Amino acid sequence: MMIGQVLPGPDDHSPDAAVQRLEAFRAELDRECDRAGRDRAEVRLIVVTKYQRLELIRALRAAGQRDFGENIYQQLREKVPDPGLAGATWHFIGQLQRNKARHVAALAQTIHSVDRDELIERLSDSERQEPLGCFVEINLADEPQRGGVDQEGVLPVAERIAGAPGLSLCGVMGVAPLGVDPDLAFARLEACSHRLRETFPEASAISAGMSGDWRQALRHGATHLRVGTTITGNRPSLD
Ligand SMILES: *Cc1c(COP(=O)(O)O)cnc(C)c1O
Repeated sequence: MMIGQVLPGPDDHSPDAAVQRLEAFRAELDRECDRAGRDRAEVRLIVVTKYQRLELIRALRAAGQRDFGENIYQQLREKVPDPGLAGATWHFIGQLQRNKARHVAALAQTIHSVDRDELIERLSDSERQEPLGCFVEINLADEPQRGGVDQEGVLPVAERIAGAPGLSLCGVMGVAPLGVDPDLAFARLEACSHRLRETFPEASAISAGMSGDWRQALRHGATHLRVGTTITGNRPSLD
């Protein structure tokens, strides 16, 4: 994309507009990795497509985007089998209900919101060919109604994942709470990641950063950015 070119506004939901924003974002991500001293190859961009139309998601896929994030099982189920999205990698990033866990596991490659034993039991499957990637979600908000474990809860959940057939432990995931400096929230997440790696050195991934705070996340070691509206445009209604 040309420097100085004006990007389509956030209410332009045409597939072309989304592709332009994707390309602009990729260029910005390259620059930001340079500034932050991060290796671009260690950072995965997940485009969050919840509530977006298939047409728009297909255009992003055709533009070479591979990783997509969804947070509702019904929406995942509609999108995964679409021929226009073949070869995509699906990340489930929302709170997972116990009775949907098995269904989600059959569709997604990675779950970013594992925070309790009853989920691990249902996600685990010794017959699975490729292990299902699992992040331990950490509650950075200290609000119990949000998903995620507190800092002391990370290791017990990680141990359960690591010991469960068909699951592989990726690392930690967090959402910076509204009204809190994201730098502080992501610093806590990064510290949790370091502690986890003392026991599980391979579990080095950090899923953090959304449209509003991905730069801060990158500076605190994020390896998986979950970016929606900056690329897709505003979410149509419902959300
Ligand atoms: C919706 C969502 C995102 C993306 O948010 P944007 O602000 O649209 O970038 C990232 N992570 C989670 C867990 C989400 O639910």
